[in-house]
Amino acid sequence: MAEITRFYETFQPTHYDVYLDINREAKQFTGKTSITGDAKSKQVSIHQKGLTVDAVQADGQEVSFTTDDNADAIRIDLPKSGETTLIITYKAQLTDSMMGIYPSYYEVDGEKKQIIGTQFETNFARQAFPCVDEPEAKATFSLAIKYDEHEGETTISNMPETRVENGVHYFDTTVRMSTYLVAFAFGELQSKQTTTKSGVKVGVFGTKAHKANELDFALDIAKRSIEFYEDFYQTPYPLPHSWQLALPDFSAGAMENWGLVTYREAYLLLDPDNTALDMKQLVATVIAHELAHQWFGDLVTMKWWDDLWLNESFANMMEYVAIDAIESDWHIWEMFQTSEASSALQRDAIDGVQSVHVQVNNPAEIDALFDGAIVYAKGARMLVMVRALLGDDALRAGLKKYFASHKYGNATGADLWAALGTASDLDVGAIMNSWLEQPGYPVVSATVVDGKLTLSQKQFFSGEGKDVDRHWQIPLNSNYEVAPTIMAEKSLTLGEYAQLRDENSKPFRLNVGNNSHFIVKYDETLLNDILNHVNDLDAISQLQILQDLRLLAEGRQISYAAVVPLLKQFADSHSNVVNAALYTVTNNLKKFVTPDSKEEKDLQSFYDQLSEKQVTRLGWTPKTGESNDDQLTRLYVLSAALYAKNEDAQKVAHELFVANQDRLETLSADTRVFILRNEVKNYGSTELFDKLLAAHRQSSDASYKADICAALTSTPDAKLIAKLIEKFEDADTIKPQDLRAWFRGVLANDKGQQAAWDWIRNDWQWLEDTVGGDMEFTTYITVTAGIFHTPQRLAEFKAFFEPKLNTPGLTREIKMDTKVIESRVDLIEAEKDAVHEAVANSLNK
Ligand SMILES: [Zn+2]
Repeated sequence: MAEITRFYETFQPTHYDVYLDINREAKQFTGKTSITGDAKSKQVSIHQKGLTVDAVQADGQEVSFTTDDNADAIRIDLPKSGETTLIITYKAQLTDSMMGIYPSYYEVDGEKKQIIGTQFETNFARQAFPCVDEPEAKATFSLAIKYDEHEGETTISNMPETRVENGVHYFDTTVRMSTYLVAFAFGELQSKQTTTKSGVKVGVFGTKAHKANELDFALDIAKRSIEFYEDFYQTPYPLPHSWQLALPDFSAGAMENWGLVTYREAYLLLDPDNTALDMKQLVATVIAHELAHQWFGDLVTMKWWDDLWLNESFANMMEYVAIDAIESDWHIWEMFQTSEASSALQRDAIDGVQSVHVQVNNPAEIDALFDGAIVYAKGARMLVMVRALLGDDALRAGLKKYFASHKYGNATGADLWAALGTASDLDVGAIMNSWLEQPGYPVVSATVVDGKLTLSQKQFFSGEGKDVDRHWQIPLNSNYEVAPTIMAEKSLTLGEYAQLRDENSKPFRLNVGNNSHFIVKYDETLLNDILNHVNDLDAISQLQILQDLRLLAEGRQISYAAVVPLLKQFADSHSNVVNAALYTVTNNLKKFVTPDSKEEKDLQSFYDQLSEKQVTRLGWTPKTGESNDDQLTRLYVLSAALYAKNEDAQKVAHELFVANQDRLETLSADTRVFILRNEVKNYGSTELFDKLLAAHRQSSDASYKADICAALTSTPDAKLIAKLIEKFEDADTIKPQDLRAWFRGVLANDKGQQAAWDWIRNDWQWLEDTVGGDMEFTTYITVTAGIFHTPQRLAEFKAFFEPKLNTPGLTREIKMDTKVIESRVDLIEAEKDAVHEAVANSLNK
């Protein structure tokens, strides 16, 4: 692949007039784009991809040009450098790639329809109009859009429409912005709108396949998020409106286009009367994330993609800050612990992982940058560390300064650290660079050596890792004052342990709150002290103990067999985060047992013992007025009871199914997935299978669809598995955007694994053609590696993926995932006997 040369160095645009004429029927469009800017030399390069360029004019005169498809370029020869207006006329195809300008398909009352939307991040604006498609090349845009319009269609864009003339929709000129944030959409849309306190119009748009009340939740969250940010950032929302649009086909989760945010339907629209709390929380955080970007990312943009983390880490932290402020009863930071912290710790422990800040060498690598666990989750943890060090007052003051200095422009990480530094008198950059530029994270060992309490840090690996002597500036957050705020040394001694223990009268702990990105390995004395007082600890601290023990076991620093006997004491906790951590550990024990073995039966009995009391306490029917913790805990314990094959649980689930079989979608969203799965697994039939698949096609409720996916993929019937896999390439049944979840479901099903694995190997080319350009593509490899755990699958994985090692964008993922499976296979081989014994022994008690 070509090295990236920045086109901005040859041409610096200030304004675009973009005219598009789109014909859905013929799946093509024509365009005329005028770009005014400063030509830095007489030969300039403008981005295009897949455009057939008819003519180029410079200041009214035809000029010669060539297109270079390998470099996504139009090379233009100008009569002179300096201020120039280019006019480029062209045509192109609409493709179903979910990038550029693309159709989304849906059905209303059995009739197939489409809406047109856009996805320009990272570098797909060039598929819609010629442009300098780099974040630094900010300009103003005037859009004019014509299409094969019929009565009753709605056309929206970043800015308000100013007029319609001869079927052309003209939109107000934008503020200065990056190309990847330009957006528009049209089709038969319904919407609901409101206005913020400061007068910003807020709207939610979706297809008419949805019930009108599915828009309400998003509208309320969006409005209150914008109001929150205007206050928190002390900077007004910069545009007249903020539209949120749900697109039926969407590659990522959502996209922060300025003033016209686009979402996967599942992340915007929901049934307010029957959606599980965790799903509502997820949707709310996605909306708050995108709206955080309207300032951080859109108003001030990273200079180049290597600073993508600046956008994403920040938005990923702010989504929690915002939702915590506007829905304080949710304790949303608990979700941060169970989702972001755990995914960051898991992935960042693999040798070969990327650092948060990454150099970008070729275009395919830009999309590979979007490693959710690192750029989003680890990055957010980094900023949470910064927030804890600075406090909110200094953070807000720093941000206000940052926005004021860089608005409508670009910035780098150093600019953010500088702004936060002046607001706080801390050298934020010096502390954060060790986290930003280095991959991985440390395990801090706390030991009593010769009576002295001693700390040391070392990079933590789960599996094989090459120690290259990295160390970090670690915010320790100890509960003993004697520990420093930041540990920069490789090791340090805190003093006489006996005396410190006495003075503090509580067990010694590090990383209280679990907000610093490291784990702790306590020696036996210290760990036993903590475990003896574990009931005094708050829920997050209990989660942290389980989380760190699990990671240490994954890293072979302790044995899983030593963790098993500790689990029962957490089983009756009423806290959802403790249960989340507990069942994360136990789910990791499943890899040690083979299907239908005595060991599996033992593990199932163990699950039964862990979950029994809680299932009785919580029951299958959500009670009105029950706590959030109870609602969320129910998910873990019912899932455990069904894994355990608890007969009562299976029976109750079956009865609930039978009683509701004509209105399955009305089953409570809190338990529906378990009821459906139980039915398909234990009472399944072809009729049931067909009925659920048809319901999946017809329903507009994303939660219900996800539940059906989870149920159908768990069928033990080989014929039905084959039938399901046939549907993988039928976009009318399973949309490409949803396929990964279906693939993963079948692959995780013992009875379906072979068929799913055969499918992906046989049809890899189809998959690459369908979703290959997509930033989510590599996650097909990640989910496969997340499941495989036998030497045979490891060998097959290598045989299939190693020849693909040189595919741009896949190299890192294949290397890492091979390592992930290798270390899991080794771990199982080394520990399975001890784990089986520990599980069997726990049963006797
Ligand atoms: Zn984002």
